[in-house]
Amino acid sequence: MIDILIRNVGFHGRRIDLAIRGGRFVALEAAGTLKDTPAAQTIDGTPFFVRPPFYNTHTHQAMTLLRGIDDDCALMDWLTRCIWPREAKLTQEAVAAGTALAIAEGIRSGCVAFNDMYFHQPAVLRTAVEAGVRARVGLMYMNQVSDHIENDAALAMRDELPPTVGLSLAPHALYTTTSETLRDVAAQADRLGLPIHIHAAETESETAIAKERYGCTPIGYLDRCGLLRPDTVLAHCCHITDEDIELIAQRGCAVAHCPHSNLKLASGLFPLAKAMQAGIRVTVATDGAASNNGLSMLAETKTAALLAKYAAGSPDAVSLGRIDRAVTEDAAAALGFVNAGRIAVGADADLILIDTRSTFFAGGGDPDANFIYAADSSCVDTVICAGRVLMRSRSIPGEEAILERARRAVQMLAG
Ligand SMILES: [Zn+2]
Repeated sequence: MIDILIRNVGFHGRRIDLAIRGGRFVALEAAGTLKDTPAAQTIDGTPFFVRPPFYNTHTHQAMTLLRGIDDDCALMDWLTRCIWPREAKLTQEAVAAGTALAIAEGIRSGCVAFNDMYFHQPAVLRTAVEAGVRARVGLMYMNQVSDHIENDAALAMRDELPPTVGLSLAPHALYTTTSETLRDVAAQADRLGLPIHIHAAETESETAIAKERYGCTPIGYLDRCGLLRPDTVLAHCCHITDEDIELIAQRGCAVAHCPHSNLKLASGLFPLAKAMQAGIRVTVATDGAASNNGLSMLAETKTAALLAKYAAGSPDAVSLGRIDRAVTEDAAAALGFVNAGRIAVGADADLILIDTRSTFFAGGGDPDANFIYAADSSCVDTVICAGRVLMRSRSIPGEEAILERARRAVQMLAG
C-alpha cells in the first residue's frame, strides 16, 4: 500500500504520478500509470507542479520573538538596549514558542529544514521533532555566556532523535571564543562524529580582530584551529580573499550565504559566483528573524541570484538551475541529508506543490523561473517532509495555537 499518491502533477514540462511509501519516493511514472494503485492518501496534482523544498542552512529560529524591535539603529546599541535584556529572560517555553513560529513561517515559504544556533536546545530539538521538519541544532560555545545554553541536555537526547533531527557543534564566532575552545570543538567533532556550524568572516571588524590577534584572515584562523572540515557550515563569509576561497573549496566546507541579513546590517557581500566557480558548496540561508527580518527562503533565493548577477556585472554569472541546486540538493547535503533535495525514485520524500492558478504562472514560461524570480510564498500549496504532510491547501495543523503561544512568549520577554 502506498502512503501518498500524487496524481497528474507537473514535473519538468510533463505530467507524472508520484508515489511515496516509508518516507521515500517509490514510483515516478507518466500521469495515469498509477491511477488504480491503492493509497492511504491521494492528492489531485492537476493544478500544481512539484519541486524539491528549500533547506535553510543558517538561522536562529527563536529570534522570531525579537523581530522588528528598533531595527535601524547601530548594532551595539540595538544589542544592549533591545536584544540582550530580552534574551536574559529566555525560557525553554519561550524558545519552543519562537522556534515553532519560525518553523511555521518556513513551511509557508516551502522550507523543510533549518540549521540552528540558539539557546535552550532541548526545546528546539523537541519542537523540530514535533513539527516534522528536518533540523540540525547546535551545541553552543560562547565566552562569558552560559545562561540558557544546555549542551549536555541536548547531547543526552542524541540517541532518541529521529534521523531527520540531529546535532552540530556551534561555536558562535572567532571573536566570542578562544583558540583553546575552537581546538577543543574540533577534537569533539572527531570524538562525537558531529558537524560544525559557525559564523565566519561576517564583518570587517571580525577580519580586523583576526588580523590583530592571530595575524591571518578569519578563514585562515578557523583552519588553523581545525574547524574547516567537509561537514562544516560557514555562515556569511562576506570578507574572504582568493586564498580563503581556495582553502574553503579544498577543505570541502559549505557556505551559508545570508544576503538579506548582510544587506540589512551592511556587513558586506559574499562573492557567490566566484565561490561557485571555485567549487565551494554554496547554500542560502535566512539568518535569524531579528536581522533579516523575514524567513522566506523563496525571497532569499531570488535576492541571492540577483545580487550575484549584479556583483559579477553579468546576468549569466549564476544560472537559475545553479541557484536552484544550491538551495535544494546542495543545501540538504550540507546539513547531512544526502538522500534529500531531489524528486527521484529512492530519494527521501521531501517536496512542495506549487499552485499554478495565479498571475505568476498564467503567462506561461518556465515554472521554476516563475517560482524563483516572480512568485511569492502564497503559491506554495502543500509541503511534505520525509513522507509527512506538513501543510496541505495552505493549512498547517495547529497554526492558531502556535501564533497564540508566540504572542504570550513575546509579552513575557518584554514585561
Ligand atoms: Zn547568524
